[in-house]
Formats: sequence, C-alpha cells, structure tokens
Amino acid sequence: MTDAAAIADSAADRFGRSATRLLDIFWTIQDALGWVPPEALQALAPQLGRSVAELRDTLTFYHLFYPQPTPKRRVYVDRSALADAAGAAAVVAAFERGLGVRCDRPDADAEWALFSAPCLGLADQLPAALVDDVPLTRLDPAGVLSLCEALSRGEAPASNVTNEVQTPGPLLLRDGAPAAALLAQVAAMTPEAIVEAVTRSGLRGRGGAGFATGKKWSLAAAWPATPRYVVCNADEGEPGTFKDRYLLTERFERVLVGIIAGAKAIGAAAGVVYLRAEYRYLRAELEATLDTFRRRGWLGAGGGPAGDGFDLRIQLGAGAYVVGEETALLESLEGKRGEPRVRPPFPVERGLHGQPTIVNNVETFAAVAAIIERGADAFAAVGTDYSKGSKLLSVGGDCDRPGIHEVVWGLTIGDFLALVGAREPQFVVVGGPSGTIVAATDQERRIALEDLATGGAMMVFDRRRDLLEVVHNFTRFFHRESCGCCAPCRAGTLVFAEQLAFVRSGQAARVDLDRVAAWAGIVGAASRCGLGQTCTRPITTSLTALPDVYRGRVQEHEALFRPFDVAAKTSACEAAIRRQGGLGDGG
Ligand code: SF4
Repeated sequence: MTDAAAIADSAADRFGRSATRLLDIFWTIQDALGWVPPEALQALAPQLGRSVAELRDTLTFYHLFYPQPTPKRRVYVDRSALADAAGAAAVVAAFERGLGVRCDRPDADAEWALFSAPCLGLADQLPAALVDDVPLTRLDPAGVLSLCEALSRGEAPASNVTNEVQTPGPLLLRDGAPAAALLAQVAAMTPEAIVEAVTRSGLRGRGGAGFATGKKWSLAAAWPATPRYVVCNADEGEPGTFKDRYLLTERFERVLVGIIAGAKAIGAAAGVVYLRAEYRYLRAELEATLDTFRRRGWLGAGGGPAGDGFDLRIQLGAGAYVVGEETALLESLEGKRGEPRVRPPFPVERGLHGQPTIVNNVETFAAVAAIIERGADAFAAVGTDYSKGSKLLSVGGDCDRPGIHEVVWGLTIGDFLALVGAREPQFVVVGGPSGTIVAATDQERRIALEDLATGGAMMVFDRRRDLLEVVHNFTRFFHRESCGCCAPCRAGTLVFAEQLAFVRSGQAARVDLDRVAAWAGIVGAASRCGLGQTCTRPITTSLTALPDVYRGRVQEHEALFRPFDVAAKTSACEAAIRRQGGLGDGG
C-alpha cells in the first residue's frame, strides 16, 4: 500500500467510512500530504461506495482542495475590490519576491505556494493574508518582506486580527445575560412558545434573503418526518462581510443559545455549524466552547435544554462561495459538490439527508438569543415595519471607522456615511457583489430589506476609486464562483466579466451596454440559485446609480477596433444555452 493509500485508509476509518464526511476525509489527506493524490481516491472509492470519478468530481469542485502536487505551506492574499483599493497588488508582489514564487502558479518543488483569494473575511483590516492558516492584517510590502525573512528563519506567523466594535447597537452587542441564564429560559419554554416568540419578533434571516425565521421554524416543526436537523450557516463568503467572524470569535455562546433554541423548537436530533475554510483558525476555540457546553450538560448525552441529547459538530468547508446558498450547503454537508438543489422541496421538508432541516445564518441565531433575553415585543419594537430588530454591518473601505456597527434597520445612506466617517464618498456597495451599488449622493435610500437589503457587507469607496474596476472585480468573482449547473449563469458570468474588461478599456460602444443589460435580465431570470440571479446586480445597479461613469467610458458609435465580436459571442452564447435547454426552464 502506498503512503497516500494508507493515509486515505486511516482518514476513511476516522470518519466512519461515511461518504457524507468526504470533506473531512479530504482535509485529513491534504493536511498530511499537501494535496489529494489519485492513489488516495482509488483507496477511498471502495470504502465510501463512490466511484473514483465521483470522488474526483467533488474534490475539484472546491477551490481549497488540490488534486495536483502543491506545497503544504500556503499564503492566500485577499484580492477583493476593497483589498485591491488598499494596495493588495503590492502585497502580492512583495510575497512573490520574499518567497521566491509566482502567485497562482504553484510549484510542487517549492516550499511555499502563493494564491489570491476573493475575500478572507478581513475587510476591516486590509490588506490581509492567511499564512499557514494564520490571519495577518494591515500588511504593507516592507512588512511582508520582513515576514518572509522571519518565515525562512523558521519563525511561525502570529495572528494580529482585531475585532473592532464601532457601534454597539440596542440588541446584539450590549453585554447581556450569561448563556446559563438564557438556556434556563429556553429549557422552561415549550417548542411552540419558542416558535411563537420568534414569529412575533418579526425576525427575518440575516444572511441576506430575509425569509421569516419563525415561519421557517414552524414549517420544519410541522413536517411529519424525523429525525430533524438544525444547521448554522457560518460560510460567510460574500466579499466585504466579516460580522460572523466577530460573532464566532466574541459571541459564540450566544449563537449557541440561538441554535439550541432552534433545535428545541423543531425537535432536532443533531446540528452542524458549517464553518468557512478561511475561518479555520477559529475552529479550536469553537470546539473548546462546544466542549464546555457538553461538560455543563447543555449539549450531548446529558440531554440539555433542547432535549434528546442534541449535539453539534463543526464542518469545515473548502472554499466555494456558492455553498453559502442553503441547499448547496446541504449538498456539501452530505460530502458532495456544493451545487444548489432545485426547489421545491425546501429544506424544511427535505433538507440534510432528506430530512426536515432549518438552515440559519450565524447572526440569525444570535438574534434569537436576543429575543429570548429581551422578549419578542422589545425586539419587534426596533427597526421598520418589515425589517424588525437591528443589523450588524461589516464596514470597510474609505472611512474613519471600519469594523462592526450594529444599526437599526431603516438607517439612511446619509446617516450611514456619517456614522462610519466616510471620506469624500463616491459610492457604497450595500450587501457585497450580490447587493446594490448606490451613489453616495443617494442619501435617502434606506438600509432595510424593503429598500437596500444586506447580509452585512458595506463597502465605502471614495472619489479616487474607479467604479468600473470595482464592478469588473465583482464580475470576475461571479464567473470564478459559478458552479456551472445552469448554462445562463455559466456562460453569462463569463460574458459579463469580458464585457466589463471591454468597457474599462474604453473600446465598448453604447450597444454593448445595451446587450449586457438585456443579458442581465435573461441570466437573472433563468438561473437556479441566488448567485445567477444576483450576478448581474453590480452592472445593473451601478448603471442606474452612476450612469455618467459608463457614459464617459463608452463610445456612442460602434467601436472601430474590437478585441472580440460581442454580438457574435452573445448570439453564440444564446444558441448554446437554448441547445442545452437553459433558457426559460429555470436552469
Ligand atoms: Fe450554479 Fe449559477 Fe446555476 Fe447557481 S445559478 S446553480 S451558481 S450555475
């Protein structure tokens, strides 16, 4: 047996030879070898009941798994639009010089591999990188060169992440009752009373979609099938957001109170916290907190407030933005490619392992803890008629107070810019690439689900910044992250990224923008999941908010020189989509 086969054998053994634990098995192999070799897949296939092709299919879906020889020691540099504005390109160049490697071109014989990453969840302290999974922030080229020298002397990197609360709001970030007191309240409530309180509070999911949490929980509780599951979505992948990093680091006990309340509400047998791989450095602390809860009888065999020995485990993701979509996350939790499912059925009926499941965001569970503590009516008294409660904003960019701000829903853009100390703002990206680009002059727009919805990412750009560079960054991001299931999204994200490059080059004509706008409608309407449905928003919302920027960059007549024929490309793309049945069938 080869080394790889032996390691694969032992990894499969450790996770009960269950294909549903495939991500854990791959991580174990990759941690040992630096990559997942074909011999490992051959060894795993008969043990897990999946073919080598299926295993390879899953392995290659995730950005952070390597199916080819790759150095074990890795640096990931944040290349989000905010990071680029903060000087990330110079940081990458310094790492290339200091480590003697090329970015995104791993050399199996080198000690280090250097990669760019779409977002590391550190948008309040950019430029930033993960070095051997350790987050390093506020980097500059000189500091990077010193760091590389220290690494070559065998010194280990040390995290310098800080968690700045700039605005402690009324519900989530005030010091509150300890977990023991809140769990005693949960224990005293019936499942129906928990669902009723969450429903009455008006809480809507904090991941961005804004579905009513009480409704979701009541549907799962009512569905006549067991076991049921609760899943905490900690796969915070929207570029620009980091509020879940804060909650997981500083308020995890309160998040657990919310999860346990959810488990009791629906009668869940078990739960999972799905943690994005970029937050791997948080895992040891999170596991320690789970152990503390078990020792105190709040989780596990002792019964606990949720009853029936409800317990949680942490599942580490492997780098795939689309897995933040709840059904894709469930696929990933089952050890498969993280491709969104066709809905219905919804997870409240057929979720994890085909059983009723509630999937909620980290902040949603933290909000449930606030409802338990302060009461549903106090929670509902804050915010707007439709958006109840408060919202954590992850603020980054050109402002004096980047960090976490807890605001009441309904805050205007004008008040937001004043709150964060924006410096000569030009535009704000509300909700990250899938959200809305708003001109800073649009002072009366409101941060609320009924106007400017946001999962939390708030990016501020001042007058020095090039809007089209930011939009181009977002379109490239969506193209990289499209899972490729639906032809409109697969092809459309590529067309949009190419078109933005074309516009930035100054060679696009007005007709090209018209075509992009037309295609935006097709891709948005014919895609299966939120990624395809929102991937056009950076273009459409920025065209609406700041049309003069585009006008200044496109020619009013057909360009004399065109690097590719957009009309032909678009027509070919449309024909390909029709051949694959991708238009008009929802993907
Ligand atoms: Fe995948 Fe895009 Fe379709 Fe979503 S819309 S399922 S990301 S191809």
